[in-house]
Amino acid sequence: MTVSSVIQLKNILLKYGAFTAIDNVSVNFREGEFFALLGPSGCGKSSLLRIVAGFVEPTSGEVLLDGRDMTNVPARQRPINMMFQSYALFPHMSVEQNVRYGLEMAKLPEAEIKARVRDILETTHLSSMARRRPNQLSGGQRQRVALARALVMRPRVLLLDEPLGALDKKLREAMQLELKRLQHEMGLTFVVVTHDQEEALVMADRIALMRAGRIEQIGSASELYERPASRFVADFIGRTNFFEGVGKGGKIRIEQLGELVGDVEAVGSVTYSIRPEWIRLFNSQPADYENCLQGTVEEVNYHGQGENVMVRLPGQSQLVTVLKPANELIPATVVNNGKIWVAWNGRDARVLSH
Ligand code: ADP
Ligand code: MG
Repeated sequence: MTVSSVIQLKNILLKYGAFTAIDNVSVNFREGEFFALLGPSGCGKSSLLRIVAGFVEPTSGEVLLDGRDMTNVPARQRPINMMFQSYALFPHMSVEQNVRYGLEMAKLPEAEIKARVRDILETTHLSSMARRRPNQLSGGQRQRVALARALVMRPRVLLLDEPLGALDKKLREAMQLELKRLQHEMGLTFVVVTHDQEEALVMADRIALMRAGRIEQIGSASELYERPASRFVADFIGRTNFFEGVGKGGKIRIEQLGELVGDVEAVGSVTYSIRPEWIRLFNSQPADYENCLQGTVEEVNYHGQGENVMVRLPGQSQLVTVLKPANELIPATVVNNGKIWVAWNGRDARVLSH
């Protein structure tokens, strides 16, 4: 079965004067998916979202909605709704009035307005707060009102620019699941902008990781995490340990350290990446690992689910981080400044050629 694309962006270029903010980006958003545009600040995420919404015209390239060219369709005529970072609610109106407003402007019949507002307040768990004003709500509740106000318009696509940026950590995590539930229940297409990789991993069906106006990689959370296409992706998504080396004869030669085995063979200059959770610690040299090195413990950081053990390997300026889980069956004894063996298998490492 092929999944149809609601929105197709083709070769989008956006210049602000001589500066290229979006550099030849092509990407499709599929019917009913939760898509995240992820990347560091300034990489062009908001610009791309504004192009989809119709607030910014690209220098060149095409935006198609259901296969139809949107070039000359103004923002307010696109079946697309955008929720901004600073979700300004009308302070003098109740929750219900805030949510009704767009439908009244669209001159829908009163019976339909009533039914739609009632439904959306229920879906967003706001029914009991319908008569309150925004200043009588918590940050998370205000966030839900802003969402209800956008969703009640039943857009084909909902665009959200850093929607949870203003919330504290616990609330943000709760709202991530809430957004996912709403998107799933209503079967809508969501495109969310975020600079927070954890947020993208938790919420999105697919992620486009952007870098300086380009898309570096598109894929599911696990594809980006487990099969990063470049050093940039491996670095941005999750945590990892890097070694710079040279591929030769099936191994990767690391200066002053020796040879490492990776997931693939490579020739020439490469970056070798091994995630902290794939490295095991031993007090004596283990037999059955392809990569096995002795080092010195320099630091141990406790974080509940386990410890991050920082190990100095011979000739390396960068410490290696090892995740030592709290529930390990036969844990190694870790002592500050003590000797320790680190070991992992080649299939768990990634050899990256750029
Ligand atoms: P992000 O949302 O990923 O942080 P933006 O899309 O807001 O990035 O911006 C991308 C780049 O374009 C940034 O370097 C930003 O400074 C620049 N930029 C954004 N808007 C304008 C503008 N109106 N004029 C000039 N440069 C802009
Ligand atoms: Mg932005």
